[in-house]
Amino acid sequence: MTKTIAQGYQDTQERIRAACEEAGRDPQDVSLMVVTKFHPVETVAELVRLGVRNFGENREQEARQKAQQLLELDAEEGVLQGKAAEWSMIGQLQSNKCNAVSRWAHSVHSVDSQKLVRRLGNGVRRALDEGSRTDSKLGIFLQVSIDDDIARGGTSEDEVFRLADQTSDDPNLQLRGLMSVPPLDSDPDKCFGYLQQLSQQLQENHPEANEISAGMTSDLEAAIRHGSTCVRVGTAILGPRPQQH
Ligand SMILES: *Cc1c(COP(=O)(O)O)cnc(C)c1O
Repeated sequence: MTKTIAQGYQDTQERIRAACEEAGRDPQDVSLMVVTKFHPVETVAELVRLGVRNFGENREQEARQKAQQLLELDAEEGVLQGKAAEWSMIGQLQSNKCNAVSRWAHSVHSVDSQKLVRRLGNGVRRALDEGSRTDSKLGIFLQVSIDDDIARGGTSEDEVFRLADQTSDDPNLQLRGLMSVPPLDSDPDKCFGYLQQLSQQLQENHPEANEISAGMTSDLEAAIRHGSTCVRVGTAILGPRPQQH
């Protein structure tokens, strides 16, 4: 028997609560982003009815279309009940998609180059000028590569500090913290421990950048042990993703 979305959502909230208790942390300090990539807008609407407003996507066009479809559904059925959804880009981003992402994204968790910082800043300015964006600032998480495994995106420690300075100099960007995806078959405690240490170093110069986006279905407990403030969960809530097209 397959689990319902409501059950998956409830079980995941319970996992977060238990992990926080074990780590001596307040569950209020860990937000849950539901990763809806490859799932249709109907699934998003079901989550919205459960109270979810924080969504993660990894492809620009798919995210943009879903965000638009949700607004259309809301116009017909009022699913959002006046509480807007927030969409975040969490997947590797090509620089030619920055203008588009700047129109719909609340935050981008996969920023790993000077070019992306520059183009997202410019994208937000353009989107504000053309009236296609309402939030003034775009939240930025710098993606760190662990063990120099750049296949999953991310950048080195030194570069992260340079990107942090560049981001905080841009009035249209808000430096929020660090993000990482551990390499396959790595020890999540080691990876997230390293990320937390880097986050503390970053906060010496950028105290506002105190968020850590870490933890997915398989490793959210380890991430919470090491200070994650945002877990990004898909499979545990929605089941296996529909076929990639
Ligand atoms: C797909 C994805 C997730 C969610 O992964 P699950 O294992 O399904 O929870 C989280 N973060 C990123 C960057 C992803 O691409």
